[in-house]
Parts: sequence; structure tokens; C-alpha cells
Amino acid sequence: MSKFWSPLVNDLVPYVPGEQPKMANLVKLNTNENPYGPSPKVIEAIQAELNDSLRLYPDPEGESLRQTIADYYNVSSGQVFLGNGSDEVLAHIFHGLFQHGEPVLFPDISYSFYPVYCGLYNIEARVVPLTDSFEIDPDDYRQPNGGIIFPNPNAPTGRYLGLEHVEAILKANPDRVVVVDEAYVDFGGDTAIALVDRYPNLLVCQTLSKARSLAGLRVGFAVGHPDLIEALNRVKNSFNSYPLDRLALAGARAAFEDKEWFQRCCNGVISERERLTAALEELSFEVLPSKANFVFARHTSRAGEEIAKGLREQGIIVRHFNKPRISDYLRITIGTPEQNDALISGLRSL
Ligand code: PMP
Repeated sequence: MSKFWSPLVNDLVPYVPGEQPKMANLVKLNTNENPYGPSPKVIEAIQAELNDSLRLYPDPEGESLRQTIADYYNVSSGQVFLGNGSDEVLAHIFHGLFQHGEPVLFPDISYSFYPVYCGLYNIEARVVPLTDSFEIDPDDYRQPNGGIIFPNPNAPTGRYLGLEHVEAILKANPDRVVVVDEAYVDFGGDTAIALVDRYPNLLVCQTLSKARSLAGLRVGFAVGHPDLIEALNRVKNSFNSYPLDRLALAGARAAFEDKEWFQRCCNGVISERERLTAALEELSFEVLPSKANFVFARHTSRAGEEIAKGLREQGIIVRHFNKPRISDYLRITIGTPEQNDALISGLRSL
């Protein structure tokens, strides 16, 4: 504790990101990055932007990218909000869209940044247990609340909630913002963006870090009713007028334009996910059904932590969470076929 800190900082419990090791030759399957790399058109677009215009501030509203995203999802640019990664979009959502005085609801096993933002913005949180099969039950979200947020597919479980169930949550909470965090939706789920024109209380949050292989560029966005976007803009403009730099805007636009690359990478991840799931089951793992670019699995007799350590010694990193109910599980990012083979033989040798 430092005498220079505000006492408020003492109470903060910061988010702990997955390990980002410096060694290059590791098989890194711990932070759900895309193994296939960004579209070559993204690299070209960023290179073309490396010129004298960098002396100028970027467009504070990022209108060109908002229009690209709006066209892609068949909405208007006034329904799109941009941020420096979806973590920043989420920060603005927690700051500006949830009602104080009643708890924000999210699943007990979910993205661990949500409780961190509640702490930062002094918001009461109430975690809602997942079912025995690690699913979200929409009926559990019929209780007084200041807002609702859940990932779909959920992280770290990978389980997906059909849009009819998302709609049930929206209908049960017409006066509260319901945020669907779709960081992993492109690996087999359907986006709730299709519902935004029918539900003014719906905000869908997405990222370019996963399916579009741009975790290093830091681009996220939200789509919803223009009133929700207006609220987010007020928060943003009280915090950072230029969330996306010129390179990020150019690269992100190109990522949406190269639909073929995107589809190929997603298909590659999905087919490897199915292959890895079968291989893990053969090695006595129980694997939850996943629609994400990772699987959540536990060995029927061995402890998750011990397996993670054994793999680490072989230069293979997977994610283990030391949390109640999931401490036996490993979250394994889907890698390239070669990385997945290395994981499978690493597990065999343990
Ligand atoms: N939501 C979920 C559920 C995530 O797992 C992540 C990635 N850790 C994010 C949001 C944030 O992604 P980014 O900030 O890279 O857009």
C-alpha cells in the first residue's frame, strides 16, 4: 500500500490475464487467440496507413469502421459503438448502462472481468449459478436486477445459449439492459445482433480478437439501440476521445472486408475443435459441448492442475482456474493441427 494511492485503490481486485510468455517455441493454448493469423489484406491495409497521416488524430467516432460493421450486420452506424478491445467496451457498459441500487446479474462461471468492473465502478454483483450441465437457465434471470450480462458462448465453458433463450431473458427484463458478450460467437453460434431492432434493451458486444485474429490490434464493438450507443458515447467521451488509432481502424475495416479469410479460419478452428474433442474423449476426458475456439474438459481421474503442470514442463500451456466447481477442468484453446497434435501426444506421455 502506498501513501500516494487513493484508499479506493486498496479495495480493487484487478483482473489476472492468462500468461503471455516471452519464449517463442511454446505451444500456447491458454488465451484463446486464433492460431491462423490475420488476413493478409489486414496487413496490407495497415501498411498503407503507415504514412504522414499519423501526425493527425484519428476520427474520434471511427465512422468508417462503424459503417463497415453496420453494413456487415445490416444495421445503421448509429447502432454501433467502438472500443479499444471489447474489454474497454465492457468497461464503458459497466460504467454507464447498469442501474445502481440493484445487483447486476451474471453467471457464476463466466468471464472473470465482470466482477472486476463491478468493483471498479462500485456496482453490486449477484452471480447466478449455472445448471448442473454448466448451462445458463433463462428462468434464473427473472429476478430484480440492475442489468444482466453473460457471454454467449459462455467462457470458460464454451456452452452456447440458443437465441430463443436469449429472447426469453430480454422479454423478462424489458426495463433493464441485457448485454450479450459474443467474443466467441463466430465459431458456431448465431449472433443476437439479429434481435437488436426488436429489443431496445439488448446490447451485443463483440471483438476482433478471436475469429478475426486481431487480439494484438485491440478492437471491440457493441451493437444496440441508438439510445444505448448514445449513452456509451457519453461515457467514452468523458474518458478517451480517440479509442481506436488510425492503424486499428484501417486493419479492422479490412478484416470485415475479407470474408473468405474469416470463413476459412473459423472453419479450420471448428473442424479442429471436433477432432480435438474426440481425441480428448479417447484419453478419458469429459469435454463440454463447445461453440467457441476452446474446449473445457476434465480428466475422469486426474487433477486438472497436475495435468496443466505436466504439459507446461513439455512447453504446452493450457489454462487452469483455481476456482470452486471448475478446479478439475482445463480450458484448452484450439490450435493449429500441429499444435493440437503436440497437445494430444503431450497428454499421452503424462
Ligand atoms: N469477453 C470475453 C468473454 C472474453 O473471453 C474476452 C477475452 N479475454 C473478452 C471479452 C475481451 O476481449 P478483447 O478485449 O480482446 O476484445
